[in-house]
Amino acid sequence: MPLANTFLGELRSLVGADQVLTEKEDLIPYSFDGTAVLQQVPGCVVFAKSTDQVAGVLKLANRTKTAVVTRGSGTGLSGGSLPSPDCLVLCLVKLDRIIELDRANLTLLAEAGVTTQAVSDAATAAGLFYPPDPGSMKISTIGGNVAENSGGLRGLKYGVTRNYVMGLEVVLPDGEVLWTGNKCVKDVAGYSLRDLFIGSEGTLGVITRVLLKLIPKPPAKKTLVATFAKMDQAAQTVSDIIAAPIIPCTLEFLDRVTIQCVEDHAKIGLPLDCEALLLMETDGHPAVVEDEATRMVEIARRNGCQEVRVAQDDAEATRLATARRTAFSALARVAPTTILEDATVPRSELAKMIRFIEEVAKKHRLRIGTFGHMGDGNLHPTCLTDERNHEEMHRVEEAFREIFEETIRLGGTITGEHGIGMAKKTFLPKFAGDAQMRVMRELRRVLDPNGILNPGKVFE
Ligand SMILES: Cc1cc2nc3c(=O)[nH]c(=O)nc-3n(C[C@H](O)[C@H](O)[C@H](O)COP(=O)(O)OP(=O)(O)OC[C@H]3O[C@@H](n4cnc5c(N)ncnc54)[C@H](O)[C@@H]3O)c2cc1C
Repeated sequence: MPLANTFLGELRSLVGADQVLTEKEDLIPYSFDGTAVLQQVPGCVVFAKSTDQVAGVLKLANRTKTAVVTRGSGTGLSGGSLPSPDCLVLCLVKLDRIIELDRANLTLLAEAGVTTQAVSDAATAAGLFYPPDPGSMKISTIGGNVAENSGGLRGLKYGVTRNYVMGLEVVLPDGEVLWTGNKCVKDVAGYSLRDLFIGSEGTLGVITRVLLKLIPKPPAKKTLVATFAKMDQAAQTVSDIIAAPIIPCTLEFLDRVTIQCVEDHAKIGLPLDCEALLLMETDGHPAVVEDEATRMVEIARRNGCQEVRVAQDDAEATRLATARRTAFSALARVAPTTILEDATVPRSELAKMIRFIEEVAKKHRLRIGTFGHMGDGNLHPTCLTDERNHEEMHRVEEAFREIFEETIRLGGTITGEHGIGMAKKTFLPKFAGDAQMRVMRELRRVLDPNGILNPGKVFE
């Protein structure tokens, strides 16, 4: 049912008339996120500028049982901020203040709509480091990162968003404001509600403030790129580096299809006669960095790499890292529809999984490029297709169903960082099992008895 005029009137008095969008042409930009194919125009879009406004909007929505879809920058890749019909999209990009950088405690307190890049820049300006670096960091919000527990290129050594969240301010669906966590390094008082809200994909509460941990900036870094004629050589190089034991800050992978698209797009000078490319970065004390870089070159050579390049300066390092950072946009240029997936397996199964994806692509006559966080076992098979071709889309669905079944069979997970949202909800019960599904549903029912937050996401 369309939103009633009295409801819209109350919203306008809560946040200001100019912060409520209702015209169709204004709503269209909020009718999709970064996920291919999914689109739904919402009933209205509301911009909140304070926690009080978020609380007021949620009280009203809860009283009227109106669906609320919380939105950061809408870069999500599992349809998490896709509107439900006639819902209210609560957009937080105007909650954009960095409130405090506390040098004594190495923390940063930010409102949820601050971009990840702004968090990173603020840390760097203070001589500190905020490691999580999702590929979308220039525009993704820190609230969105927490809601998805986003990873990034430095996940192998530094972990994911969860590892940097010390506290959260969350508005519950009935408008009550809750603080969980604090600046203490250790705190075991009660259940960790903070951990419950991290990765909750907008289904349990609206995150309005995030208290983040910062760490000292590593003084040195080296970037290397190695190319391999055979995929197995690259996979073995990854295993040998980890077994060495070296934990690089970045250990990323591109396959042949992706290398070709990146080279067409960015003209970096990548060799095109290889099956796999590894981007490797080590950071830390200069002597350690030097030693680790030398050993990684040796390991790559021992595994028969075609070529290994070590960046001589920052400019070259940035150029080499561009190969990985532009992978998604390079692939997205090739076909009208780009479906980027998120299969993750134990590292020992990587080569097997990559081969399986290649076979599935061949079997279903599809173009699938694979890249990803090889050190984390997190692969992004990316299908280049056209959503207008229904017959091909059927084959795409079949191919990804087979890929996820194989992922589960190999002891992996159906999503390493993009979340369940709309895109993976049919796979979740099989992956999570009955007991986990029951507990998750009950938690959701307790926190949001009217089911107003992000209905239709995560659960079928
Ligand atoms: C080019 C590209 C590269 C990417 N690279 C990576 C990557 O390397 N690693 C990675 O993990 N992801 C990556 N992503 C996915 C995406 O950027 C992340 O999931 C990101 O954290 C989403 O942030 P957002 O602000 O855009 O959130 P949105 O897309 O707006 O929302 C995502 C989900 O979080 C919920 N949500 C948003 N804000 C809040 C809040 N304040 N409170 C409660 N719920 C909220 C929404 O309801 C939705 O369910 C990439 C996406 C693109 C397009």
